[in-house]
Amino acid sequence: MKLKSILKYILPFIVVAVLFSVWYFKRRTVTVTDTRLMLGTVVEITVMGEAGERRDILYEAVESAFLKIAEIETIADRHTAKSEISKLNRMAKEGELGPIPVSDEIIEMLDLSRIVSERSDGAFDITVAPIIDLWDFSSDGKGRVPDEDEIRKRLKLVDYRNVAVEKGTKEVSFRKTGTRLDLGGIAKGYAVDEAAEVLRKLGIKSGVVNAGGDIAVIGYKGGGKKGGDPWRIGIQDPRNPKGLIAVLRLNDASVVTSGDYERYFIENGKRYHHIIDPKTGYPSDSSISVTVVAKNTALADALATAIFVLGPERGLRLVKDFAEKTGDGENSVEALIVGPKGKLFKTEGLSKIMEYLD
Ligand code: ADP
Ligand code: MG
Repeated sequence: MKLKSILKYILPFIVVAVLFSVWYFKRRTVTVTDTRLMLGTVVEITVMGEAGERRDILYEAVESAFLKIAEIETIADRHTAKSEISKLNRMAKEGELGPIPVSDEIIEMLDLSRIVSERSDGAFDITVAPIIDLWDFSSDGKGRVPDEDEIRKRLKLVDYRNVAVEKGTKEVSFRKTGTRLDLGGIAKGYAVDEAAEVLRKLGIKSGVVNAGGDIAVIGYKGGGKKGGDPWRIGIQDPRNPKGLIAVLRLNDASVVTSGDYERYFIENGKRYHHIIDPKTGYPSDSSISVTVVAKNTALADALATAIFVLGPERGLRLVKDFAEKTGDGENSVEALIVGPKGKLFKTEGLSKIMEYLD
C-alpha cells in the first residue's frame, strides 16, 4: 500500500526523467573529422551524425570520400606522369592531336571549363599551362619573373578553343600542337563535389568537405533538415591571415575563394601570384580576392578564377549571367569580391546569407 502510493507519486518524475534523457541522448551529435594532404593542399572532411549512430559508419564514409578525392587527383594532376591530363599533354607535345578517349570525370571538367571560358570571354582558360610553367609558382614565396619574349611566344598556345570535347564518344582532341592543359582552377572544386556526393550516398546528412578553401557543406550543422543551424563559413581577409571579412551561413551549398595571397612571390615590391590573365600571360591585377557561393563547387571554383581575372564590375555581370542562364533562379550564384584597391563588391542576394562584414 505504502509503496504503491510512493510509486504513484514519483512515477511521473521517472517517466519525465527517462523521456528527457532519451531526448537529450538523441539530440547530441557525434562528429568525425580527418585531415589529409591532398590536391596540393590541406583537405579536411567533417561529418556529423546523431549520437547512437555507429561511429564506424561515419569513419567509413570519411574514408570513402578521401579515396574519391585521391581518385580525381590521380586522373587530373598534370604533374603526375600517368594521369589522364598528362597523357593528353604528352600527346599534344608529340604533335598528335587525338582524339583520345578519357574518363567521364575529365569530360565533365573539360566541358564545364569550356562553358566558363566562353561566358567569361576567355578569362578562365585551362590552356594556360605553358604560361603557368614559365612562372613556376610555389607556395614558399620563391619565384622569378619570366622573360617577356618567352611569355609572348607561349601566349600563342593559350586558347580554350583549341580543345574539343566530344561528349558522345567521350573523346578529347586538340586543334593545335603544343596545347597543354592545367585543371588547377577547377579540379579541386570538382573533387570536393565528388567527395560530398560519396558522403551523401552513404547517408551522411551533415558534413563539410574543405580542400584548402574550396568548400561544400552538406545539410545543416549537427544534422536533420530543420534541427540544426546553418554551417558558418569564415571568409579570410586577404591581407590579414588571422582576420575575416565575412561569415557566411550556408546549408547544402558550396563556397570557393580565390586570392592573390595563396601562391605568390614579391619582386621589386610587386606581387606576382598564380592567377594568370590569359590575355597577357601575367598575373591579374583586377582583384585581390573573390568568393563565390553556388550549388556546385566545380562551378564556384572556375567562376572564382574567372571573376578574379575579369575584376569586380565585369565579374558581377558574369555572376548574373550564370545565375540566369543556369535556370536555377537569380540566386543560384552569389559573389563577394575584394577589388584591386581593397573595396568590397557583392551580389545583392549575398546579404541574406552574410552574418557580418566590417
Ligand atoms: P587556388 O588553387 O589557390 O584555389 P584557383 O582556384 O584560382 O586558386 O586556381 C588557380 C590555379 O588555376 C593556378 O594555380 C593555375 O593552375 C590555374 N590557373 C591560373 N590562371 C588561370 C586562368 N586564368 N584560367 C584557368 N586556370 C587558371
Ligand atoms: Mg578556381
